[in-house]
Amino acid sequence: MKRVGFVGLGLMGGPMAANLARAGYPLTVYNRTPDRAAPLLQLGASAADSPKDLAARSEVIITMLTDAQAVEQVLRGEEGLLAGGGPGTVLIDMSTVSPEQSRSLAIEVEARGWDKLEAPVYGSTGPAKEGTLGIMVGGPRAVFDRHMDVLQAMGKQIFHMGPAGAGTATKLAFNLLVAAQLQSLAEAMCLARGGGVDLEKMGEVIAAAPVASDLIRRKIVSIVGDNYAPSFPLKHMHKDLGLMVATGHALGVPLPATGAIHETFTAARSRGFGDLDAAAVFCLLAELAGSRKEEAL
Ligand code: NAP
Repeated sequence: MKRVGFVGLGLMGGPMAANLARAGYPLTVYNRTPDRAAPLLQLGASAADSPKDLAARSEVIITMLTDAQAVEQVLRGEEGLLAGGGPGTVLIDMSTVSPEQSRSLAIEVEARGWDKLEAPVYGSTGPAKEGTLGIMVGGPRAVFDRHMDVLQAMGKQIFHMGPAGAGTATKLAFNLLVAAQLQSLAEAMCLARGGGVDLEKMGEVIAAAPVASDLIRRKIVSIVGDNYAPSFPLKHMHKDLGLMVATGHALGVPLPATGAIHETFTAARSRGFGDLDAAAVFCLLAELAGSRKEEAL
C-alpha cells in the first residue's frame, strides 16, 4: 500500500488520519503541536520530526491545515515539505484555501515533478470520524483516479470538479450556503425570542418543517442547549467568508448577502467567539438584540 504522510492533526485531520491508519496505510504523521499525534501513534502511525522528514518518508502527502498561511509554512523553509520530497511525490491539500492558491501551488509543485490535487471537504467532525466526508477535488483527472483509494478511506461522496482550483472554488460556493443557513437560523431565533417565543419551541417548529436541513437541526441543538463546543469553529467560517468575498471581487461576481454575513462573523470573532462553534454567531446577534431591548425599557 502507498506510504502516506499526514500533516495537520486538528479537529478534522486527526480523525481523517486515523481512518487512513485503520485502512492499513503505512502512515507517518506530523503536527506542529506534537502532543496531538499521540492517538495516531497508538494506531500504529510513526511521527516525523519535521514536514521535511515526513515528505522524505511518504509517497502521498496529505495536508489538512487551518489556512493558506499554515500551508505555506509547512511547505517552505529548510524543514518544509518541499525540502524533503522528490519527483513523483503526490501532494493532496485538503485544507480550505483560495482557488488562486490551489492553482499557483499546483503549478509550482508540478514544475518539480510532483503531482498535486486539492481536496477540500464538507461534513464536520462527525463525518471525519466516520469516514463519510464529502470531498471536492481539483486537479488532473488521472491523478484523481490513481489516488481514489486514499480519498475513499476518508470520504463517501467524492467528486472530481475539474482542474486545479475547481475543488476549492466548489468548497467556497458550498460554504456560502452553510454560512447563509447559520446566519438566517441565528436571526430567526433572535426574532422569535424578541417576540416572546421560547427558543426550544421555535427550534421544534423549524426542525419539523421542510426548511430544516441536518445542519440546521444540529445547530438548533447548539443554540437551545447553549453549547458551542466547536465542531466547525467560527474563526474558520470567518476565514472562508473572507475567501468567498475576495474570490467574488476577483471574478466580478457580486455576493451582497455574503458580504453582510462576513461582517457579522468579523464582529463575532472580535467579540471573542472565534474558538466556539460557528453557531455562536447567534450569541453575537442575541447580545445586540438584548442591548436594544434594555434601552427600550
Ligand atoms: P484545527 O482543528 O484548527 O486544526 C488546524 C491544524 O492546522 C492543526 O493541526 C494546527 O496545528 C495546524 N496549523 C495551523 N497553523 C499552522 C502553522 N502555521 N504551521 C503548522 N501547522 C499549523 O482546524 P480543522 O477544523 O481541523 O480544519 C482544518 C481545515 O479544514 C481548515 O481549512 C477548515 O476550514 C477546513 N474544514 C473544517 C471543517 C470543520 O468542521 N472543522 C469542515 C470542513 C473543512 P496545531 O495543532 O499545532 O495548532
